[in-house]
Amino acid sequence: MEDRDSIEVLICGAGAAGLILAVDLARRGVSFRLIDKLAGPFAGSRGKGIQPRTQEVFEDLGIIDRIAAAGSHYPPLRDHHDDGGSTDSQNIVIAPPSAGEPYRTPLMVPQYRTEAVLRERLAEFDAAPDYGRELQAFAQDADMVTAQVAGPDGIETIRCRYLVGGDGGRSFVRQALQLGFSGMTLGVRAMVADLVLDGLTRDAWHRFNEGDMARQISFCPLPHSDLFQLQAPIPIDGETDLSVAGLQAFIDARLPGDTVTVRNVLWASAYGMNARLADHYRVGRVLLMGDAAHVHPPTGGQGLNTSVQDAYNLGWKLAAVLAGAPDALLDTYEEERRPIAAAMLGMTTDLLEKAKQGDMRRGRDVHQLDLGYPGSSLSLDLPDRQEGVRSGDRAPDALLHGAGGQPLRLFDLFRGPHWTLIARSVDAASLPPASPSLHVYRTGADGEFHDHEDQLAAAYGLVDGALLLVRPDGYIGARATVADSDRIADYLKTVQVSGAELEPRGMQRE
Ligand SMILES: Cc1cc2nc3c(=O)[nH]c(=O)nc-3n(C[C@H](O)[C@H](O)[C@H](O)COP(=O)(O)OP(=O)(O)OC[C@H]3O[C@@H](n4cnc5c(N)ncnc54)[C@H](O)[C@@H]3O)c2cc1C
Repeated sequence: MEDRDSIEVLICGAGAAGLILAVDLARRGVSFRLIDKLAGPFAGSRGKGIQPRTQEVFEDLGIIDRIAAAGSHYPPLRDHHDDGGSTDSQNIVIAPPSAGEPYRTPLMVPQYRTEAVLRERLAEFDAAPDYGRELQAFAQDADMVTAQVAGPDGIETIRCRYLVGGDGGRSFVRQALQLGFSGMTLGVRAMVADLVLDGLTRDAWHRFNEGDMARQISFCPLPHSDLFQLQAPIPIDGETDLSVAGLQAFIDARLPGDTVTVRNVLWASAYGMNARLADHYRVGRVLLMGDAAHVHPPTGGQGLNTSVQDAYNLGWKLAAVLAGAPDALLDTYEEERRPIAAAMLGMTTDLLEKAKQGDMRRGRDVHQLDLGYPGSSLSLDLPDRQEGVRSGDRAPDALLHGAGGQPLRLFDLFRGPHWTLIARSVDAASLPPASPSLHVYRTGADGEFHDHEDQLAAAYGLVDGALLLVRPDGYIGARATVADSDRIADYLKTVQVSGAELEPRGMQRE
């Protein structure tokens, strides 16, 4: 039995949520371990829709180009009719970027590729998931969590300041905390499988028997592979044969003649759909994120994306509290993220009802660009604002020019783990000092950058004397004028950002 020295954060589960949190903590110099009970990376394609807001997060984490290269846009949906004809429709609209929204089209990236890119990013911080390690028990006191982890060499005791359960829908962490998982079983079961097959073209997402829940079946070509993702509703009860022969028989029962020949099955699963939400996301030093905190139908492609956003909200708060910010900052994680998940449960359940009628159209509501935290205790508007972007809203992008004339994007200034303070036509002496966790920029007269075609002013309503404070996760923390700069300084202290903050502690991987 081994007892390693303590670390700051133990992340249980190296799925999408666990990997995002690990990358975020790594770039902040927080010591962590990322464990997973699987022997190696998960091989299935399941969460393949990468929504525009998630693409913004991926830009910040330095992986958007790798993700885009690993994926593609969604192909048209091709409905095959009983008479042998077919109709194409673009159920996922491809929209060009705008000044405020550089990503406006969902990408299709198999989840095994997204997670591979995240592991590659993690490797750049000299970190990696520890596979073959299962969390089996934990206890917490006022200062630490002590976890028992079963691995190849027996039971290991890991001492950490915080434990984060990103351990999926059947979460051990959630159950060990005895947290309620309120909601319902939706009475819908589905099959999903990654197949190599003959008989279908790769230029469309093929759907047969639209709107007939007993016979509907679809095949989506997965980019940069010879795979199709099969999706089909199946009866609630009964055995499902997921072998090549079993899936061939399943397909033949729903398609005419020899339409499809299955050559290989790389991954397959039959699962019942639920809509459930954990009663709490935090108990002391233990937190939940991703599917461990919320499960829902896959319609609308929200699960992986919501898991990414959970981890992205939690990462900077954990790092700040570990660096000395008030513990209450961690309570804002549940305050901000749980209502978002509650709303998402309703939306995906509605989309499931529409999908049962054959309606697969997706609009802006699944892009997650309009989600935010305006009512959060972290959102400060001085004075109160009723119109335009408010504190808690997602901070839109804008085109700028550096003082030297070079083109610049506002997101260039946000990129990284820091807070960003933008002041318009404000004297430098009136502003808090810059620090590793606070970048300070001035625009307007004598500013370091200038607005391009008034995009910044239009997007934010910035007037002379205005201060705009943007959180590390790209939401507006505070808006004020220079007359209220003391309030901004107080705000920054509550999130452990000041000129006198601790120096970065450097990566301390165990
Ligand atoms: C058919 C299908 C289609 C989907 N489509 C989409 C989509 O288009 N878009 C979308 O956003 N989402 C989609 N999803 C949902 C998406 O796959 C999940 O929401 C996402 O994987 C959740 O990530 P996670 O990290 O929270 O959990 P998971 O990916 O489930 O990862 C949890 C990890 O924890 C590990 N673990 C569990 N218990 C322990 C333990 N005790 N100790 C150590 N490790 C443990 C597991 O091995 C696992 O690797 C789809 C899902 C399905 C089934």
